[in-house]
Amino acid sequence: MSVLVRCGVVRAVIPRLWRGKCFSSGNEPAESNPVTPMLRHLMYKIKSTGPISVAEYMKEVLTNPAKGYYIHNDMLGEKGDFITSPEISQIFGELLGIWFVSEWMSSGKSAAFQLVELGPGRGTLTGDILRVFSQLGSVLKNCDISIHLVEVSQKLSEIQALTLTEEKIPLERDAESLVYMKGVTKFGLPISWYRDLKDVPKGYSFYLAHEFFDVLPVHKFQKTPQGWREVLIDIDPEVSDKLRFVLAPCATPAEAFIQHDETRDHVEVCPDAGAIIQELSQRISLTGGAALIADYGHDGTKTDTFRGFCGHKLHDVLIAPGTADLTADVDFSYLRRMVQGKVVSLGPTEQRTFLKNMGIDVRLKVLLDKSDDPSMRQQLLWGYEMLMNPKKMGERFNFFALLPHQRLHGGSHEMNACQSKPSTSSVAGFDELTWR
Ligand code: SAH
Repeated sequence: MSVLVRCGVVRAVIPRLWRGKCFSSGNEPAESNPVTPMLRHLMYKIKSTGPISVAEYMKEVLTNPAKGYYIHNDMLGEKGDFITSPEISQIFGELLGIWFVSEWMSSGKSAAFQLVELGPGRGTLTGDILRVFSQLGSVLKNCDISIHLVEVSQKLSEIQALTLTEEKIPLERDAESLVYMKGVTKFGLPISWYRDLKDVPKGYSFYLAHEFFDVLPVHKFQKTPQGWREVLIDIDPEVSDKLRFVLAPCATPAEAFIQHDETRDHVEVCPDAGAIIQELSQRISLTGGAALIADYGHDGTKTDTFRGFCGHKLHDVLIAPGTADLTADVDFSYLRRMVQGKVVSLGPTEQRTFLKNMGIDVRLKVLLDKSDDPSMRQQLLWGYEMLMNPKKMGERFNFFALLPHQRLHGGSHEMNACQSKPSTSSVAGFDELTWR
């Protein structure tokens, strides 16, 4: 770790609310109900075809190509709606960079790999990882690395390009192209942008998703005396221009996602997350590599976690749609099921344990020893506290990884999902980092 010589990068933001903090149906603050273009669009849709699922609502509100919250907004940081770990401390991304190098070494130092990030936000995390790759240049010198970002937001992809290449990159002219922007990072690596994971070339890859799965659309279900009923969103007949939750009068097809032995009385299911896990598992089992997923979530225990954030405050999810972020806790037990034995899954492991195992204390000390600027030292200590304190982000955030069976079982292929848990002793983060 001492080879990482760069000293503290002072993050410009003083973060307040992180999205993992609370969960509720988001009805707390009394808010006005402005008629946003998105509300008008949704009311038109509901009037034409009837109440919509929460998943459809989330998808429209967040990623509708014309009016979606993520498409034209920069919501991260002090002036935005929430803050994330990579924006809080450079150490976070550096330790994840070390994780990928450690996995690359443990799995045989392939001659080339792709680093693929899903939902890269402002590009800060990949930027910190690339700095580690560059500083470990002697280790990675013969490895051919390329960067691939999966992003639906036009605004954020522009910011990512500035962060990572220090340039404005024009959109691809060829409308048929799966790559919509491409360039070269400031460290000289080729970088490409895609709208969908399926469009990323299938090669030996390390995949990363930080606070990505929690924005994918969830279906919500309530147990009733008549059986499971999906929660839908309808127009409130009593208040003009207002939406409300209703229960579907009969079973809906999405009910198929609920486990037969489910004991909770309210559940949220995210089929898109399942599809992405299946795609990642398939890719990793065929071509090798690994996936590292970090998010707030639970292991199949929580119920109603759908909530909104605006200006660092909880926000009623049905008010002024398109102006606030919507999110739901990630159900790691569902992700694990969706692996279907194709690869090994590790975790969820609490963020404070993962970062401790990755050597956060040593890295903090190195940065503190190198800095004589009091404000930078204060920022580093405060960032550590935010990431590690169990009452802050230390326990609510979890790490989850997908690895090929060969990585843990030395050559054996397909393993049944019911087989005993593999030993995790050699995977950094899930156990202490050791350099081979
Ligand atoms: N990983 C970043 C940003 C998290 S916010 C961080 O931790 O700071 C969620 C990110 O996912 C944003 O970049 C958003 O534009 C992107 N996103 C949301 N829905 C997406 C989708 N369906 N496909 C690809 N990216 C998506």
